[in-house]
Amino acid sequence: MTPEAARDHVVAAARRHGFHRVGIVAVEPSRRAELHRDWLAAGYHGEMAYLATPEHVAGRADPRAIFAVARTVIVVALAYGKNAPPPPPDGVRGLIARYARGTDYHMVVRDRLQLVAAELAAALGRAVASRVCVDSAPLAERELAERAGIGFAAKNTMVIAPGLGSYVVLGELLVDVELATTAAPTRDKGCGQCRSCLDACPTGAFVDAYVLDARRCISYLTIEHDGAIPLELRPRLGAMIFGCDICQEVCPYNAAAPDRHPPAAELTARDTDHAYPDLIALAAAGANQLRQFVKRSALRRVDRRRLLRNVAVALGNSGEPRAAPAAIALLAHPEALVRGHAAWALGELATSGAVDAITAAAALDRAAAAEVDDEVKAELAAAAARVVSLRG
Ligand code: SF4
Ligand code: SF4
Repeated sequence: MTPEAARDHVVAAARRHGFHRVGIVAVEPSRRAELHRDWLAAGYHGEMAYLATPEHVAGRADPRAIFAVARTVIVVALAYGKNAPPPPPDGVRGLIARYARGTDYHMVVRDRLQLVAAELAAALGRAVASRVCVDSAPLAERELAERAGIGFAAKNTMVIAPGLGSYVVLGELLVDVELATTAAPTRDKGCGQCRSCLDACPTGAFVDAYVLDARRCISYLTIEHDGAIPLELRPRLGAMIFGCDICQEVCPYNAAAPDRHPPAAELTARDTDHAYPDLIALAAAGANQLRQFVKRSALRRVDRRRLLRNVAVALGNSGEPRAAPAAIALLAHPEALVRGHAAWALGELATSGAVDAITAAAALDRAAAAEVDDEVKAELAAAAARVVSLRG
């Protein structure tokens, strides 16, 4: 089989397995490795220390560092679309980023790419050495997607696939076969003078166009970050308990993306609760219920304590009287991280008038009397001081 015939076979297989875009590029060193090193040197990766490991840096610089026999990269994009069922009118609701509302995209993309690899091997009549990468592997996937003609690197650091927008997940299949490439430079005009995403970010996470300080990004803070969320950023998280879509929601490419490309069925929202979770129910859920809630979903990336930390912040931001009993209950949670954020939430709810100052002060005093953790004590004291100031 010629490299051209093999390429056409792979493209047809990827299409048949539902990928919305497919492009093929030869393996070669990254042209942006230096930019990535500068980003790491500035510390913008925060606690994501794995990004700075020699293995990760080497993989981003050249795919052969993670798969020595790789000769070709097959890059795919799978759309999850706008993925927004109507918000329910009841309850105190949080918000989950669109990509995480269905089945875990890592599984969905991996399974499909493995089928593509198997079909390539069958067509060639020989074993094919391959490696599937979906987000978690050290690979310069956005650069590869651009080279493969999938889309362009946008100012919000996402890849925008013209006609689809940026509500897509990417995957790569490294193979030891030399395929003809499909790479064609996109003729789209790119971001141009637009800067809507940079201006809309609620936490000011963009240092500049194309440069994100992850330490300020809600996606990082709600998913990757392990400790306390910085006080000054908590109010800006709003209802978001897992990820953030704001810099994509404002993008004209997403607003204009036609609906003629149905998103992958597995990636569409499982149900309303996986788009707009009931915060009070989550705060009261036991370990088994939470396990069920995140099962086979990208939400598995956060452990229970981080999830409930985020729930506590969203309760505090809700301004809802119904949120107060849930915040008070979380003051007694076994995890100090959760108790500390519950204290902040109660202070916030008292400040917004969602709970009266006497009730809030009494709950904070009771919690302080039983508290042993110094950081939680400090959170309780800060919340109590806010409440006292309300009582004049
Ligand atoms: S995901 Fe949200 S917080 Fe992060 S850069 Fe985009 S708008 Fe800002
Ligand atoms: S909002 Fe504007 S600047 Fe931001 S990614 Fe979209 S087109 Fe580019």
